[in-house]
Amino acid sequence: MNLGDLPWTRVKATVDDGRPVVAILPLGAVEAHGPHLPLNTDIIISDGMARRAATLLQARDVEAFVLPAIAYAPAHYASEFVGTISISEATARALILDIARSLKGQGFACLALANSHFDPANVAMLRSLAPECAAIGLPLAFPDFTRRALAAQLTAEFVSGACHAGQFETSLVLADRPELVDDPARAGLADNPSSLVTAFAAGATNFTEAGGPHAYFGSPAGATAQEGEATFAIMAEALAASVVEAIR
Ligand SMILES: [Zn+2]
Repeated sequence: MNLGDLPWTRVKATVDDGRPVVAILPLGAVEAHGPHLPLNTDIIISDGMARRAATLLQARDVEAFVLPAIAYAPAHYASEFVGTISISEATARALILDIARSLKGQGFACLALANSHFDPANVAMLRSLAPECAAIGLPLAFPDFTRRALAAQLTAEFVSGACHAGQFETSLVLADRPELVDDPARAGLADNPSSLVTAFAAGATNFTEAGGPHAYFGSPAGATAQEGEATFAIMAEALAASVVEAIR
């Protein structure tokens, strides 16, 4: 299921088999996520969503491969924190479109984007990809969790906009990579109810201006692996549904 773990012959046999084959591209960022979560948090979340969606799709007669994740993205809001690596929208866009062209030539039926990195510049770049993917001839599936209808399916903290390295994301990392969560550190963190959505709209240009001088928003102390697993299930279902819609 992880394309990078397989020999090319297995991938070819699947593409030749006749059923639609989707490539799921996890999109992350190397970005500060508080003093308790790893810089790779969004990669872990997007990869976990992609693997669960692949399982759901196989039950719906759609073959799915999870591609190696793109680790780098526009992450301007967190670029004040050491360890964050932010790239331009143009670079990220060109990379994803080159991947789409390569997959199209090999018989894939759809490119699905598993994204959990909600920096506004990144989301705007991803939203702009559909027309070019259509021109390439490869349908694009992109469940955008920042859209109201999808956001409403997620947790109350996510909807509040206080949703970076808080209960929402910490729970997801606890579900898949608990050994990477610094539990003593998160237990000592006060809740930070500052809303990123409100701050972005008001013109904040970095996390400190948005009220998050330690690169977290929300309630890390309230996170549980159980909530993370429930959220993964919702995100994976949204991704699988958008693939089925795209290839119909
Ligand atoms: Zn994140």
